Amino acid sequence: MRTITCNLCGSLDQRLLCTGYDRDNPQNRRTYSLQQCPGCGLVYLSPRPDTPEELAEIYPPTYDSYMGERQRFLLWMRRIAWRPELREILARTTPDSAILELGSATGEFLAELRRRGRSRLLGLELSAEAARIARERHGLDVRAGQLDDVTLSANSFDMVLLRHVLEHLPDPRETLTSIARLLRPGGYCIFTIPNIDSHTARIFGRDWYGYQFPRHFYLFPRHTLHRLLDVAGLRVERVVHQATPNVWIGSARFWLAARGHTALARFVRYHNPLVVAAFAPLGFISALMRSSGVIRVITRRPVCGGSPQ
Ligand SMILES: [Zn+2]
Repeated sequence: MRTITCNLCGSLDQRLLCTGYDRDNPQNRRTYSLQQCPGCGLVYLSPRPDTPEELAEIYPPTYDSYMGERQRFLLWMRRIAWRPELREILARTTPDSAILELGSATGEFLAELRRRGRSRLLGLELSAEAARIARERHGLDVRAGQLDDVTLSANSFDMVLLRHVLEHLPDPRETLTSIARLLRPGGYCIFTIPNIDSHTARIFGRDWYGYQFPRHFYLFPRHTLHRLLDVAGLRVERVVHQATPNVWIGSARFWLAARGHTALARFVRYHNPLVVAAFAPLGFISALMRSSGVIRVITRRPVCGGSPQ
């Protein structure tokens, strides 16, 4: 476990925001602390898992994002949820565009992009097993590792995607700065993150699904996000509030489980069509009010000036 300083402003000061535990792994009995930087407002986990052994413990092979073969309903749901996102990507790229996905898991999203005529695709995935599945199941170029492990040329990508990834990274400032360098001027970086300035975060408090102790290392209140992107050399074009009810569902499950309603909590899952139908209106309302638990941030490397620091 490693105690860290603020990734955005470097401050050593921290104020405890809340504590929590690993909701998906009852064997893990640790209590984790989310700190907020009094200087800039960034929210981060400290101390946090740091060694390869500690990281392997919090990302077991059964981790949700690594999709098995039989999760047909889930894949069907995700494909519906992905439609607006795919439209945004297609509108900002051509069949010649080079697209990189960081944290591409088992490659389902890249495979959807290929189905829609995008062929210059590269995935990077920390889990060697997930990367292997992506290559074998979809024939995609998905390499195991992270940005530091591969040699990629500056100005060589038209778009970089990070879907539910940025909050897991040890150094989001460094990663966004590297991404800005990889993008050609005018290229896009689109990332999906939990929104700590949301209805669900306020309503559920420490049971909020977006906290995901201990896997979410960072949460970005709105003003910190803008400052972070500024430092990295990216400009926000649009913030999209996602209408999917998954944060409502996950938070309700955590709330129930924390109060001993274990059987009911097991029922309240995104894999359950009845539950998805019941919670769908809440997802839509949050999105309409621009207070969704998940946001997609469309950013761009400026065409001229504003080069990455
Ligand atoms: Zn700070």
